[in-house]
Amino acid sequence: MRYAEVSVNSPVAQRRTFSYAIPSGLNISAGQAVWVPFGDKLLQGIVLELTSYPSVEETKEIAGVIEPRLILSPAHVLLARWISEHYLSPLFNAVALMLPPGFERKAVTFITSLLTSPEQDASSLTQEQRRVLELVQRQDKISLKQLERTLGKKKAQNIVSQLVARGLATRSYELERVKVKPKEMPHLALKVEASEAQQKAARLRKKGANKQAALLDFLAEQSKPVSWAEARQRVNCDKAVADALTNKGLVTIQHIEVKREPISYEGITMSQPLSLTTAQKSAYASIRSSLLQMAEGYTSPPVFLLHGVTGSGKTEIYLQALAEAVKLGKRGIVLVPEIALTPQTIERFASRFPHKVAVLHSKLSLGEQFDEWQRIRDGEFDVVIGSRSAIFAPQPDLGLIVIDEEHEWTYKQDTSPRYHARDVAIKLAELTGAVVILGSATPDVETFYHAQVGDYRLLQLPERVTPSDGSPLPQVELVDLRDELKAGNRSIFSRSLSRATAKAVASGEQVILLLNRRGAATFIQCRSCGLVLRCKRCEVVLTYHFDEDTLVCHQCNYRMPVPQICPRCLSRRIKFLGAGTQKLEQEANYTFPQARLLRWDSDVTKRKHSHWEILGKFRAHDADILIGTQMIAKGLDLPLVTLVGVVNADIGLNLPDFRAGERTFQLLTQVAGRAGRGSLGGQVIIQTYSPEHYAIQAAAKHDYASFYAKEIDYRRQLHNPPFTQLARLVYSHTNDVLCQREAERMKRLLIEERDSRGIADLSLIGPAPAFIHRLRGRFRWQLILRGSELSAFLWQIPIPQGWTVDIDPVGLV
Ligand code: ADP
Ligand code: ZN
Ligand code: ZN
Repeated sequence: MRYAEVSVNSPVAQRRTFSYAIPSGLNISAGQAVWVPFGDKLLQGIVLELTSYPSVEETKEIAGVIEPRLILSPAHVLLARWISEHYLSPLFNAVALMLPPGFERKAVTFITSLLTSPEQDASSLTQEQRRVLELVQRQDKISLKQLERTLGKKKAQNIVSQLVARGLATRSYELERVKVKPKEMPHLALKVEASEAQQKAARLRKKGANKQAALLDFLAEQSKPVSWAEARQRVNCDKAVADALTNKGLVTIQHIEVKREPISYEGITMSQPLSLTTAQKSAYASIRSSLLQMAEGYTSPPVFLLHGVTGSGKTEIYLQALAEAVKLGKRGIVLVPEIALTPQTIERFASRFPHKVAVLHSKLSLGEQFDEWQRIRDGEFDVVIGSRSAIFAPQPDLGLIVIDEEHEWTYKQDTSPRYHARDVAIKLAELTGAVVILGSATPDVETFYHAQVGDYRLLQLPERVTPSDGSPLPQVELVDLRDELKAGNRSIFSRSLSRATAKAVASGEQVILLLNRRGAATFIQCRSCGLVLRCKRCEVVLTYHFDEDTLVCHQCNYRMPVPQICPRCLSRRIKFLGAGTQKLEQEANYTFPQARLLRWDSDVTKRKHSHWEILGKFRAHDADILIGTQMIAKGLDLPLVTLVGVVNADIGLNLPDFRAGERTFQLLTQVAGRAGRGSLGGQVIIQTYSPEHYAIQAAAKHDYASFYAKEIDYRRQLHNPPFTQLARLVYSHTNDVLCQREAERMKRLLIEERDSRGIADLSLIGPAPAFIHRLRGRFRWQLILRGSELSAFLWQIPIPQGWTVDIDPVGLV
């Protein structure tokens, strides 16, 4: 007897597999999707392992195979196990990441007759049993649903059970079908002979209807109907022209089914590899030689960190490395942050690999995702490009994984499994022998550290490619807000930023004003001297709670009332809370009455696509000033923007999170890279109360090295990652007191475990109220664990419902 260890699609399965016997005659392998009996239900499961002995005494049999083809590759089976173990997530949640979209559908039960001759046995049946058997015999198989509709639910089920028990019928199971609507596109076809059409065209031309004539001539040359999109582009006409010809009875519009193409290749022409700069050449040579080594059978693929400022030609290297991988018979996956998955990005890849690029993103319909998944598995694409979850695409022959903007925290998923796509990619590469390229202008400090100590290989592109128009990195000016108040300026805008904004708008250029709102209005700052109050025990910024009018430390729960005067400069202007984007918009309206304003924040962009609508408006120069939150910092190329103003750089700096300095540096550097992308050059003005802060200083000089040197020192001193590992445990409950009590109980339990296992390097911080203390009516308390191998430590500990565990959290707030 053979057995299978199966990951079952049930919430009670948690992190375990279950043993099932494999019935003789059933061909089962690891990675197979099967139906298994579980309690009184029939559930989906994925076989993760075949064994000779079951892990429990009593086993049931696998009920059937869902799909004969393996649904997970051997590498994906191991990856799913790793995700569940590392992130402590239910096993099936990890498996589900890799299943085809819509896989978690219901089972449809079918009934087939086993009766070979009509007379046989049928005589002893009741009238109703005979009736059902007749219904079943009329077709190969009939769904139980259909019988239920005819006979009523209970009766149909009873009779089917009786027939199955007597060996006259059998059940089989299939997945409910994915409903994929065929995609249709309008096409134009002639209603008359080509020769007649040409005559008519000549006559139309005489009357001055040149567009109609041109369209008619174009259609006369075609052997079959042409899509309206193509005709419109070729003839350069609008819908009214086609309508005119339809009304004249010369042309008809047909709706023809087309293959779904996630990318429209219209207007995309094949692009050739550029000849590389010296810096690019040397980076590319290293990657290429690793690709060759892997193709020759080396077993430990390297991870490259490609560190290069915006515009230094990183994407060109990705493209050429992918082309090399393809030449070696391999394929690639490219991850970009969701926000960077723009038509421009896709076009760059599509034009280098025509019809060989698959795009995966959340805006595709289920049908489209399903189609795309199947085609990827069939090996139709050289490159799969997508956001976070595209790392799980069933791309065969994986040879290269590229993660662009690797420092972006959108690569971390914030629901179970709380995986980080970069860490998953590195694991997957290890399992498949793929080379990894992590690219960024501002690498994550932990990534850079790995490159420093030799875990990853560092490749650097220190300069912009500077194409013919020449656009060096912009000048950055730091404005000390303390001086503004001293000079009697009480506006949000410093004198310098006001002047520069007015000047840019007057010259027909564009301005971006950035307000990093995340965390605004949560800390208290002295407007005279810039002091921000910190916890005396933890050095963490104290968070202001409106309802209690107190300051709270979100690490140790220290509390204090809000002081009336500044403890440093004795000013009474201590209770200054940052302004939101709306307030900023009002002030900008008042200060720059001539300028046309556009606001871009998450309140405005809740609707689908409105990101691109707003951006499109701004790019079309329908506005002079764009006001927005950190979203606008990412990957935009806006040639008319000559000035970027950062309204208050301290907002990000004062979050109670050890990564606040790093986030601020990244944001400011990315923003500074926005200005001056065009030939007009650019300028950046950063307003701050702490111009001497290392993160702000380094960002102003575009100096990653000096930022990193300071930051890694702090991390070492304070025992933060990469020198330790963190886990964040959050408990939520509608009752605040119970919530705190449970957090304290968990802390005692964890300390007991730690001490009884004799683990020295593990410390617990908290419990304290989470930064967002109340979310959707529930209170939240958190515990932070700092140590190493935390997944292994937590694996054996019972963690009740209501807790979420986040291993390697990207933020503590
Ligand atoms: P990054 O990905 O680092 O931001 P890109 O690859 O987008 O940089 O390059 C920036 C610009 O420079 C693009 O317009 C690109 O086409 C161009 N470019 C990149 N490499 C070269 C090269 N070797 N020769 C000429 N132009 C290049
Ligand atoms: Zn002060
Ligand atoms: Zn504290």
